[in-house]
Amino acid sequence: MSKVSEFFGPLKRRPKYTTKPDGTFYSFTYFRENFRAEIVEDCQYRCVYCDCHEAEMGGNEVMELDHFRPWSRPEFAGLKNDPNNLNHGCPRCNRLKGPHWPSTKAGSPHDSKVGFVDPFNEKRADYFSVNDDGTLVCRQDPGRYIADLLQLHRPLLQRLRLRRVLRRAVNTYIAKMLPEIEAAKAGGGTLTREQLAAEWLKLKDYQRLLDLCDAPLKELKTLLSAAA
Ligand SMILES: [Zn+2]
Repeated sequence: MSKVSEFFGPLKRRPKYTTKPDGTFYSFTYFRENFRAEIVEDCQYRCVYCDCHEAEMGGNEVMELDHFRPWSRPEFAGLKNDPNNLNHGCPRCNRLKGPHWPSTKAGSPHDSKVGFVDPFNEKRADYFSVNDDGTLVCRQDPGRYIADLLQLHRPLLQRLRLRRVLRRAVNTYIAKMLPEIEAAKAGGGTLTREQLAAEWLKLKDYQRLLDLCDAPLKELKTLLSAAA
C-alpha cells in the first residue's frame, strides 16, 4: 500500500470507472448507489476540499459525492453522470461549494485568483499546508478563496488537523523510544528507570491531548511495565 500523505496528498483517478456494458455512464444516482466506493477510494477516503478523513467525520455514511464542475450550471450539465467529475466530499464543503464556479479562465477551474484546485490535476500541497497548531496556511491563490468559501479555518477542522499533528508526534516519539525500552528490558540502554518513568509521563501528556490513543500506546505501556 502506498503511503498516504498526512495532509493534502496527491490523488490519482483509476484508469476507468465502472460504466454500463456499452461503455456509457450510469445515471448519477445509480452510480452513487452502486459504485460510489470507486470514487471514495480514489479520494483516499477524505473530503478532497478540507482533507478530513471520513472516519474523522463520523463515518462513510455522512459523506457525499460532489460534482467538481457543478452540473447545475448549463455549461456543465453534460457532466452530471460522469464519474470523472465526482469527488468525495464532506457535507459542509459540498454544500458551501454548491454551484460556485468563479474562474474567469475558460476551461480552467481557477484563474490563479479565484476558483477551485482540481485535486486530481494539481498538487493541493502547493496551495495548502498545515502548521503544527493545526491552523491552515493558504500558500497561494486561489487557496484563500477556497478557504473562505468552504470555511476551511473552522474550529472543527483545526481540531482534526491538530489531532493528526499530535498523532504524528506520538508515532515519532514511540519510534524513538521503543529501542530504548527494548534495551532497558535487556538490562542495557542509556535511560535509568526514573528517566523511563519521566518519558512515560510525557507520553501520557500526549495521550491527554489526543483524548484517546489506541494500539501503539497500549503496546508501549506493556513494554514499559515489563521494563520496570
Ligand atoms: Zn470537507
